Amino acid sequence: MASNSTTPRLPIVDMHCDLLVYLTDVPDSDMNKAEEIGCSLPNLKEGNVKLQVMAMYSATGAGSTQYAALQRDKFRELADADNGLTAVTNVESMQQVMQQEGATGMVAAVENAAGFCEEHESLEDGFKKLEKMIEVCERLLYISFTHHTENRFGGGNMTGKGITRDGKMLLDYLHGRKIAVDFSHTSDALAFDMLTHIDKEKLDIPIIASHSNFRPVWEHNRNLPDELTQEIIRRKGLIGMNFLRAFVNNEDPEALLHHILYGFSKGAGDVICFGADFFYTADSTDLSRIPYYFKEHEQASTSYNYVLNQLKEQLTKEQLEKLAYRNAQRFITDLWASG
Ligand SMILES: [Zn+2]
Repeated sequence: MASNSTTPRLPIVDMHCDLLVYLTDVPDSDMNKAEEIGCSLPNLKEGNVKLQVMAMYSATGAGSTQYAALQRDKFRELADADNGLTAVTNVESMQQVMQQEGATGMVAAVENAAGFCEEHESLEDGFKKLEKMIEVCERLLYISFTHHTENRFGGGNMTGKGITRDGKMLLDYLHGRKIAVDFSHTSDALAFDMLTHIDKEKLDIPIIASHSNFRPVWEHNRNLPDELTQEIIRRKGLIGMNFLRAFVNNEDPEALLHHILYGFSKGAGDVICFGADFFYTADSTDLSRIPYYFKEHEQASTSYNYVLNQLKEQLTKEQLEKLAYRNAQRFITDLWASG
């Protein structure tokens, strides 16, 4: 048996990228510029990415909702243009792109609730902007309440703050809406407060971490502690493996494999998936983070397949398929099954 043969290219579902920020915020951006962003359109095609979740990101602060609205409209523009991208809005359209050669599906998500609700406006107005996002994008897969910092809903991953009254009201609002809540940018305190409120009020809200690794493998506040990993497993959510060097390991690219294998060893075999977190890094001022990705992890065209091939001695064919697309597909199918 040829041990150096490559695994047939699996379909890929990825839970998080920042293509919309790049396209709305960077001068002369172009979704075909593969040298500028790892999730450019040619990269997605070449990497057999069948479904890419597109985050609408904004920092907390005045103007956050206008900033996100540009990305919302960009999502619509991409979905409507003749470019091979298709908005996936239900189980059927997801199955279609999975089977169609050369098609890439996309679905929108919110990275920081400041994207639909400014710090100083009524919650009611914020919820209206959320509804507008859902209307324009047709679906939101998940909402992250915070980014790094604190906002009116709770504490971000660089804080120790928990949930606020507004945060509880947003959870109540999301009950039964078939939109997941994302723990990738919560403080631990906010994540545990959310779980407490969801359970106490018996809210029907799925939980994921769209682009986070495991903290016991690499100590970082963006990575999950074991208790939260276990909660996500118990609730049949998703955990998307992040390719950013800062969350993998500063020095060792192989650590990405250690994160994945750790997940499988801790019972995350049915929830682990990819959330590579490709974004435009050329305007970065934080020298400590350059390079943002290890060479082998920097683009959708080759990186998923590279990682899957590296793991084929340690994981079964079924486990590799679950990581590549089946867990994400299972989660979305369950979430959207009835409406
Ligand atoms: Zn993020």
